[in-house]
Amino acid sequence: MNSRRDFLQKLTASVIAFNFFPGYGSSGIKNFYSESNEDPVLRVAIMGLGSYGTRVAEAMQSCKRARLTGIISGTPAKIKNWQDKYNIPANNCYNYDNFDGIKDNPEIDAVYIITPNALHHNQAIRVARAGKHVICEKPMALNAREGQEMIEACKKANVKLLVGYRMHFEPKTLEIIRMRKDGELGKILFFQGLCGFRIGDPSQWRLNRQLAGGGSMMDIGIYAVNGARYMVGEEPVWVTAEETKTNPEKFKEGVDETIQFQLGFPGGAVASCLSTYTMNNLDRFFLNAEKGFAELQPSTGYGPIKGRTNKGELNQQHVTHQTVQMEEMAGIILEGKQPIVPIDGEEGLKDLKIIDAIYLAVKTGKKVDLKL
Ligand code: NAD
Repeated sequence: MNSRRDFLQKLTASVIAFNFFPGYGSSGIKNFYSESNEDPVLRVAIMGLGSYGTRVAEAMQSCKRARLTGIISGTPAKIKNWQDKYNIPANNCYNYDNFDGIKDNPEIDAVYIITPNALHHNQAIRVARAGKHVICEKPMALNAREGQEMIEACKKANVKLLVGYRMHFEPKTLEIIRMRKDGELGKILFFQGLCGFRIGDPSQWRLNRQLAGGGSMMDIGIYAVNGARYMVGEEPVWVTAEETKTNPEKFKEGVDETIQFQLGFPGGAVASCLSTYTMNNLDRFFLNAEKGFAELQPSTGYGPIKGRTNKGELNQQHVTHQTVQMEEMAGIILEGKQPIVPIDGEEGLKDLKIIDAIYLAVKTGKKVDLKL
């Protein structure tokens, strides 16, 4: 088990269960998964045919409202394999030099960017300029300035910008959010987010500052940043942070190994979080509130997510996150559906502003005020 992803892959059940899907209710599910052939389908090109791109493509095979119709890759052999596997015509295959030509392709509505972090900004702007909707993996960009530019490019091109926040559609997560919103937990007092895995191969792009934009915080710590916001249900107003490094050879300058950070919320709640590339089995959210508590462990892996609250075990069924995410994104893009927790560019930008502040707090050793 060299990586969190290996670990999670073993845990992931391939079953897709839509029996329970909070927030949509049974009538919503019927509409959403309508059998009608007339329902529009979101035709998606995946950019970056790496490990997560492969997972998304597989999960999309079970989608009714989203379909893989194109690919963008720098590796001809991968293009050939994917063409054969997913029946993708040559006209819908692009490389990183010529994908601007996608603007003339009526068979692609959206491009899902699943490349190393540093490439997202430029690629998203090019996709927007080609007039296609942008779906971008987390972190949306390397910093808030880049994120803002992506939002502006998408606004200008009149296309949607969505971020791959798959946990925003996860049933147990949504149940806790429902309980909080309905007041069942009372006033929120404290959140703990522990996110990490032990990273392997030192030559991978995740440990290259130019491509990753940082270290564990950009890759896995972002789940605690984002989770703190949707679990507490407020935007933080300050951050403090400390970094520790046990292996400066592997985690070079600008690549964080472990960061502990704290967030303060306007209602008085605080969050205490850990982001690391040095510990396995670290995937836990805990929410403490005046009338109860909620716990998820694992909390952000591919599932099954496990959880309990002061009322007992959470029993919502496991879903394949990427399948549900793509179905929901189709609804958002094609029908203007509003997700329970936003997944738009503004949502991605808030996380980037917090991460910028975390890095600043690490550097200065000072508390940094936030205005999101
Ligand atoms: P990966 O290394 O497996 O795949 C990256 C792909 O990008 C490869 O196919 C590679 O060939 C291609 N690529 C294009 N230009 C490149 C360049 N200059 N250098 C290196 N590779 C280049 O990585 P991954 O795990 O698939 O991650 C890709 C993105 O997806 C990252 O932003 C990551 O944070 C995100 N991700 C999200 C989740 C999630 O659960 N939402 C999970 C894993 C990864």
